[in-house]
Order: sequence, then structure tokens, then C-alpha cells
Amino acid sequence: MNLEDEDMDHIFHCEVKPGLYILCDDRQSPTDDPKSLVPGKPTGNSYLVVGSEKAILLDLALDNKSLKEYAENLAGVPVQLVLSHAHVDHIYHITQFPEVWLHPDDEKLLRHGAVFQRPVKNCPPLHFLRDGEIIDLGNRILDVIHLPGHTDGSILLIDRNTRTLLGGDTVARHLLHGMHTKIPPEEIIRRMEALKDLHFDTIYCTHDRCSLPKSHIDLIQEVLRRYPIEGKLQTIPLLTKIRTFSIGAQKELHYCDVAAVEHK
Ligand SMILES: [Zn+2]
Repeated sequence: MNLEDEDMDHIFHCEVKPGLYILCDDRQSPTDDPKSLVPGKPTGNSYLVVGSEKAILLDLALDNKSLKEYAENLAGVPVQLVLSHAHVDHIYHITQFPEVWLHPDDEKLLRHGAVFQRPVKNCPPLHFLRDGEIIDLGNRILDVIHLPGHTDGSILLIDRNTRTLLGGDTVARHLLHGMHTKIPPEEIIRRMEALKDLHFDTIYCTHDRCSLPKSHIDLIQEVLRRYPIEGKLQTIPLLTKIRTFSIGAQKELHYCDVAAVEHK
């Protein structure tokens, strides 16, 4: 058995909403059960949204060489790769894809790299998605929302059919701010407020398999308000200083943590 066959055996999926699939690797689980979908330890998951004409695969967050083939078999229509952002843990095996869609402000991360991130050699051709644009999958529209903070070019998608927000690492239970961007927490809190006006009820993010309620945005705002005062300051080599803070317990749904790089 070669390595790719073995990789294929570790992927599984769950249709969390009609035509919206979470794709996971059973070697990385939130609990001791490899296929658990409950809140727990961070994992890396991709999402497949299938329309009548095409599908999008959001992020390559499984370090698994068979993800492309698995997604194409599951979709049954052509699959377009979209990145919520260009961090290294969202672009595994990216050179398997003929083309990539992402926000233009993350192009530099892909092509030139940054701290903790090497440039992608032989990067596939890039296409850009900007705030307010739509992705039409055929009988299914996704709205693109640009919300910098995790990276400069982080985007979110709203699947209108199922009123689901695909939050990447921006609307998530584990927040990382300021590593590759310098946006003050007050600004992100303000942008999160505007997000609440949009039409969605459920959130899925990259590093959790569970769904989150819309009210999770309130929790994110609370974390962003409190960490500058209550967070613990740590010194990390190469990063100078990082401030960490969390609310709740990781195995409960009502949980959010942040690690924020101090630029002062
Ligand atoms: Zn990231």
C-alpha cells in the first residue's frame, strides 16, 4: 500500500447541511474517538459546498495527499479551491491544484512567505476574491466577506442556501491575531459587530468540527475586549511577545481563546 492509499483511508466526511460537507482526517480528533464532531482539541478540517454546476473546497486544512481526489469524488461536479487565507496549515499539497482563489492581500504570504511560513514553490495560478463578490455554484450562491485581522486577506463565506457562515480562522473558537497583520482589537470588534447584521444562523470554522451559534460572535468580541487587560504575556522566540487569554473550557461549546502578537 502506498502512502496516498493510506491517506485516503483516513479521510471521512459528514453532510452537516444539505450539500455542505465537512471533510476530516481521523488521525486528528477533538476527542479519543477519531470521528468525533464534538467541541474539543483543535483539528484541521476543510469544507465542500456543492452546487448544480460546481463545488468549492474551502481550505486544504488536512495534511492528506488524497483530499483533492476525495473531494472531487464526493462533489460529482468540478471543484474550485478557495482559501479562507494563506496560512501554512490551510494550504497542504496546494500544488496538486491547477488554480487557486483567495483574497489579493494574502498573495504575498503564499508567494513570499513570512515568519513561520515558507514561500510556496511552483505556486498554481491565482484568482482573486474581494469583499462583496459572490461565487455562483449553480442554484447556490456564496457571499465573500473580507475581514482582516487573522491575516490581511482573510475572507469568510456565507452559504445563502443554508444560512451558514464559513468562518475560517477569523470567526473561530481559537483566535490568532497580529502575527501577519497589524489591526487593533477595537477595529476587529467593530467589524464583528457589522457581521452580526448578515443573514446566517450557524458557523463552521476550520479548526473545529462542531457548529457554532451566531452568538459565538459576542464571545469573540468579549475575548477581544478582555485580553489586552486580562491576558497573560509570554515571550516567544522570533515573535517578541504574545498575549493569551481564554473564556470557558475547550470541551464545552461556549469556549474561545486568543493568542495576540504585541506590536508595541
Ligand atoms: Zn490561520
